[in-house]
Amino acid sequence: TRSLVELSITDPMTGAYNIKHFEETLTTEVCRSETTRYPLSLISLEIDYFPQIKEVHGQAQANEVIKAISRSLNGMIRAGDSLYYDGNERFYFLLPFTPTEGLVVIAERVRRSIEEQTWPVVDSLTVSLGCTTLKTDHETAQLMIRHANEALQEAQRKGHNRVSLSAKS
Ligand code: C2E
Ligand code: C2E
Repeated sequence: TRSLVELSITDPMTGAYNIKHFEETLTTEVCRSETTRYPLSLISLEIDYFPQIKEVHGQAQANEVIKAISRSLNGMIRAGDSLYYDGNERFYFLLPFTPTEGLVVIAERVRRSIEEQTWPVVDSLTVSLGCTTLKTDHETAQLMIRHANEALQEAQRKGHNRVSLSAKS
């Protein structure tokens, strides 16, 4: 059984952390990183063509895909990293102590691993990822999220199933 605190920070369907907890944790980590100068990285990830998956297979089946992806993503990162789900088709990885060089390594490993696995419901599945590293000169949590999401949109614009790094890293 889960404690009340756990329930309040967890997305019930996937078991990933929820978006409220994401915003709170990111704010804390940004402050910490600005004080310590340890690097802080963020990945924004979306399942490619998820609206079509929902349309073709229905919400219940699409949820099975989300659950499988979430489980897989959780096993791909270090214990000190954390995974968040926005309740729709987007996930975030928060990666403390991780510089841009490492960020690109993880993002590409995640992308490839998703592409190579087999999934329930669908024949194949890919994801797009947007990456950013905190700049220490007064970048806020909200700005960091925006930079990751802009990089994600660029990855999608360039054809999906790819990693894009924010120019503002
Ligand atoms: P963990 O740190 O929680 O990492 C979980 C999984 O995330 C790893 O499972 C691996 O699939 C992936 N991962 C994390 N960091 C890296 C990385 O730098 N490169 C790559 N390619 N994958 C990474 P895995 O490999 O089965 O390791 C299980 C656990 O064993 C890790 O849990 C960690 O506690 C420990 N471990 C494995 N290799 C090392 C290592 O080289 N150094 C340290 N300090 N611990 C390690
Ligand atoms: P690598 O797999 O080429 O990863 C290079 C760098 O990417 C890592 O440097 C780290 O900065 C970042 N990185 C990769 N995966 C993760 C991750 O899941 N979470 C976070 N936070 N950072 C990640 P680092 O830490 O100096 O590790 C050097 C090498 O040690 C890694 O090269 C890998 O070969 C090995 N390693 C470390 N931990 C693990 C692990 O848990 N599992 C495996 N399989 N290898 C590991």
